[in-house]
Amino acid sequence: RSNAEKFEFQAEVSRLMDILINSLYSNKDIFLRELISNASDALDKIRFLSLTDKEVLGEGDDAKLEIQIKLDKEKKILSIRDRGVGMTKEDLIKNLGTIAKSGTSAFVEKMQTGGDLNLIGQFGVGFYSVYLVADYVEVISKHNDDKQYVWESKADGAFAISEDTYNEPLGRGTEIRLHLREEAGEYLEESKLKELVKKYSEFINFPIYLWATKEVDVEVPADEDDSSDDEEKPESTEGEEKEDEDTDKEEDEDKPKTKTVKETTYEWERLNDVKAIWLRSPKEVTEEEYTKFYHSLAKDFGDEKPMAWSHFNAEGDVEFKAVLFVPPKAPADLYESYYNTNKSNLKLYVRRVFISDEFDELLPKYLSFLLGLVDSDTLPLNVSREMLQQHGSLKTIKKKLIRKALDMIRKLAEEDPDEIHDKEKKEVEESKENDEKRGQYAKFWNEFGKSIKLGIIEDAANRNRLAKLLRFETTTSDGKLTSLDQYISRMKSGQKDIFYITGSSKEQLEKSPFLERLKKKNLEVIFFTDPVDEYLMQYLMDYEDKKFQNVSKEGLKLGKDSKDKEIKESFKELTKWWKEALVSDNVDDVKISNRLADTPCVVVTSKYGWSANMERIMQSQTL
Ligand code: ADP
Ligand code: MG
Repeated sequence: RSNAEKFEFQAEVSRLMDILINSLYSNKDIFLRELISNASDALDKIRFLSLTDKEVLGEGDDAKLEIQIKLDKEKKILSIRDRGVGMTKEDLIKNLGTIAKSGTSAFVEKMQTGGDLNLIGQFGVGFYSVYLVADYVEVISKHNDDKQYVWESKADGAFAISEDTYNEPLGRGTEIRLHLREEAGEYLEESKLKELVKKYSEFINFPIYLWATKEVDVEVPADEDDSSDDEEKPESTEGEEKEDEDTDKEEDEDKPKTKTVKETTYEWERLNDVKAIWLRSPKEVTEEEYTKFYHSLAKDFGDEKPMAWSHFNAEGDVEFKAVLFVPPKAPADLYESYYNTNKSNLKLYVRRVFISDEFDELLPKYLSFLLGLVDSDTLPLNVSREMLQQHGSLKTIKKKLIRKALDMIRKLAEEDPDEIHDKEKKEVEESKENDEKRGQYAKFWNEFGKSIKLGIIEDAANRNRLAKLLRFETTTSDGKLTSLDQYISRMKSGQKDIFYITGSSKEQLEKSPFLERLKKKNLEVIFFTDPVDEYLMQYLMDYEDKKFQNVSKEGLKLGKDSKDKEIKESFKELTKWWKEALVSDNVDDVKISNRLADTPCVVVTSKYGWSANMERIMQSQTL
């Protein structure tokens, strides 16, 4: 177009588009859910704006918050239209030409070596998936603050933007026209589109319509004038038929006056049912529905099920409904970004209206691995996001969400037959077909155990609840994970403390001389081998009235030995000699100890100092 302004794509985008347009990726279907998801986001945005300014919605059709899909079989065009917020010219340049989100280059990198395209939506570049099926795309958009514009590109490294003076005015919103490639003809089939919407866009909270053909029964005059029936236009009005009926009546009372024929017309057919899953009773929602809902939230449409979910209705002063999910896997960067971001994966709704998915006040950082949503009737609708962030009810919501999340995780353990240590109970469980739940807590622990530890460090109010969820190996656990409750149930009579040792690996620790006597006395010692464990143990002082004792530190008491005094006396001179030889800045004291069995001597850390392992960790961090 002559008035079009030309722009080059950011190199990154260009590379991605190249990959997409040349992709042999088999699941090209994903483009539709990306477009519908964008349309839904745009509708969410205008609805949110309308909370504080009704005017923005406009009137009549413009105010209808819906998504429409239309096909043009002849021209091979598939278009998706929404009445969302739309894009200004500037938005078009920025949103459909550059990539703002981080991690995208990593995605492009991965795609070049055959990564999973299915996850494109997670990387903030879902729009470009249109080039899996189209070789030319037009985006027509009208934002309240600007004129109507057309963005267009043939994925050749450049895009063009021009003021739209030729298409029908949109009022407000965006229409995306995909000029489908030869081999993408299947997306011109209504049945295919219906199937895709069902499969991927079930949880979109706006009506999705398809301009679909419909076979309708039309009454036409019977018999004699068959020839004239054929000529009749499909849009024959009822009025005309009535006239015919009237004439029939006059002619012959007994003969059937009309007959029914099939005709094809078009109408908007609703493809989805928008009863939000969280508003339904948990009893009515099937496991499959929760799984699909999880996939739509996670923008991950693989076949993995979430590990657990909790769907509940909180009543009282603060009312809300919520669904929480434990994902099947931790994202690769979960702990990498832990310390510098505060990203929450919960969506906040107020009275069914989507408010934000960047609302950090809902869950503490250590639970940021959970996905889900909260819909509150108590929070006010017509205030700014900033005001909402300060609202007193949020504290209550957060508190309840943490409780429910920890309950959900505890249940994962309780329902896992591998976690049941009570012999009789275990036999009962073993006899049941419980394979699906077997080992699920170990799996959870593997993926998210570190989050529980971070929780113990950060959340004093829930420390005990979180400590119950801790798992670790010990000198006697035989390679299996065990819990503090289990440890306590196995404590020897007279054993007051919970013993643990820290180090870089279990193999290294097993050889430690610090364990000699404890092993001889059959005392169980916990292995803590994760760097975070050192920090953890600075916060976890006791559990169920039992103190934690690091066996490599001074002050280890294994019970009195009758010969203690005698031994001390007989080695008095040697101790004195050692003291004179060693005591300096590096060594505080030399003592007779009963913690060793075979090793003659050992260096221990003072009670209040860093353990040797902590020294090691600190050193590796400063290097
Ligand atoms: P994401 O949706 O993750 O941001 P996309 O590549 O799907 O990434 O879309 C990029 C951006 O383009 C969106 O963030 C949005 O600003 C804009 N956009 C895309 N589709 C629409 C639409 N239908 N209406 C308004 N804005 C849109
Ligand atoms: Mg998107």
